[in-house]
Amino acid sequence: MSAIDTLPPLREVIATHQLSARKSLGQNFLLDLNLTAKIARQAGDLTGCDVLEIGPGPGGLTRGLLSEGARKVLALEKDTRCMPALQEIAEAYPGRLEVINGDALEIDPLDHLTPPVRIAANLPYNVGTELLVRWLTPPDWPPFWQSLTLMFQREVAERIVAQPGSKAYGRLAILSQWRADARIALSLPPGAFTPPPKVSSAVVHLTVLPEPRFPADAAILSRVVAAAFNQRRKMLRAALKGVTPGIEDHLIAAGIKPTERAEQVSLEAFCALAREIENA
Ligand code: SAM
Repeated sequence: MSAIDTLPPLREVIATHQLSARKSLGQNFLLDLNLTAKIARQAGDLTGCDVLEIGPGPGGLTRGLLSEGARKVLALEKDTRCMPALQEIAEAYPGRLEVINGDALEIDPLDHLTPPVRIAANLPYNVGTELLVRWLTPPDWPPFWQSLTLMFQREVAERIVAQPGSKAYGRLAILSQWRADARIALSLPPGAFTPPPKVSSAVVHLTVLPEPRFPADAAILSRVVAAAFNQRRKMLRAALKGVTPGIEDHLIAAGIKPTERAEQVSLEAFCALAREIENA
């Protein structure tokens, strides 16, 4: 298949700019431009959207996002060595790529973006999870983004989309599914990356819901879910004892058996419990 733009192949870019992968920055690069275009397509229709990309590295996904029609890509990259390669992409797509050299955990991108905004990233997993939690827990809802298309370790992706009754079901599933539709869009074997990581990966796509799926106070829901899953083997009447007095009555009022364990309780029931506690 043909390359997606007239820029040099990514292997050449990496050799020219001496971008040997650094473990400390979680660098596992995607060098197949057909694959990066496919990942970019999972982000939905990009025409008329600004895309916030975290960790562009040598720019494989960046090129995919631009060739798929993003109005503008704002790319935040910590590794200064990647700047010249990203500059070449900016020159090939005049006015459509802005790069900021810095730590995505420290940068507020909002001044650089015009709605509608989508977010796409192939990030080190620890940074990805932290950013996901931040993007899902802003002070106000709806947030500044319409969708998130993020690469995760397969096991983390499964925790995001998990349903009650599975081992993977927990805080991340509740947080992700309360205010977004979440699905695994693509699975990738270690060999898709250079160098290959130890585990498989998956792209998760989350689409914002205009309102939370079920009403609940965010802080109370978060407190209840944290306590419930911190002691996931315990019955809820024990695990939630410290959350509020009379927890057994609240559980019953929310339609949850006090002898159930967190793993069996649906998102809807957790929200009902948060409302019971709020109203008490
Ligand atoms: N997107 C590129 C690709 O798909 O080939 C690179 C992916 S690599 C897994 C992760 C990238 O995130 C690296 O370029 C790394 O330097 C960058 N990175 C790591 N931590 C970061 C942070 N806190 N803020 C911004 N970029 C970061």
